[in-house]
Amino acid sequence: MPWLTRLATIARRTGFPVVEVDGWKTRGHGPQPCVEGVVCHHTAGRDDMHIVRDGRPGLDGPLSQFWLRRDGTIFVVAAGRCWHNAPSTSEHHDNSSSIGIEAENNGREAWPSVQLLAYRMLCAELCREYELPASRVMAHREVNRGKPDPHSIDMSAFRADVARLLAKRQPAAPRLPELRPGDRSEHVVTLRRALGAANQTSTAYTAEDPDLMALVSAFKTKHHLGPGPDWTADCWTALNRSEKP
Ligand SMILES: [Zn+2]
Repeated sequence: MPWLTRLATIARRTGFPVVEVDGWKTRGHGPQPCVEGVVCHHTAGRDDMHIVRDGRPGLDGPLSQFWLRRDGTIFVVAAGRCWHNAPSTSEHHDNSSSIGIEAENNGREAWPSVQLLAYRMLCAELCREYELPASRVMAHREVNRGKPDPHSIDMSAFRADVARLLAKRQPAAPRLPELRPGDRSEHVVTLRRALGAANQTSTAYTAEDPDLMALVSAFKTKHHLGPGPDWTADCWTALNRSEKP
């Protein structure tokens, strides 16, 4: 198997925002020999994509192909082999046979529901792509007895959810959260970029932001999505399908 240059495309099928980290298509400890499993991790830190990309003292990066931010944004870090699980107790989940997902979590804090949903959907889309059953999605702690991560996630329930997502014939529908005036979310930045206001980076969705509201209004009118400023799931769906806003 060559470099996994479809990872961003696969991740986008979840409907969650995807960030392609510069240089990801050629980052790795050589190409990925095969994909027979997915290993779920927590990073034990915050704001630590750079560690997954660059490594830490004693272990060179990349450490995993994906970094999953707490707001559900999926960062594609590497297309090659990553140092995320050695030694492995499973022949399908070592560095040469599996993909790693490092989810941002300090190892103690509660998981945001949006992050957990993105986690399950990313696993499901990886299983769909590489024709793996949900049973091939494993916690790091299940395939390396010295590891605790990802903490507090019931992997049996997690895999059952992945299996349900996989059973749908079509890739799962976008689940980006609705936005209402007053909300704050990284998804506002995604929306700005998609609608053509990429020069702004505010995460506030506010009626005092005439540029954004004008773009939203124009888009909703053009696509017959009803009046008002609420940005709904139907709006995300229409946006994902449209060539241009
Ligand atoms: Zn781990």
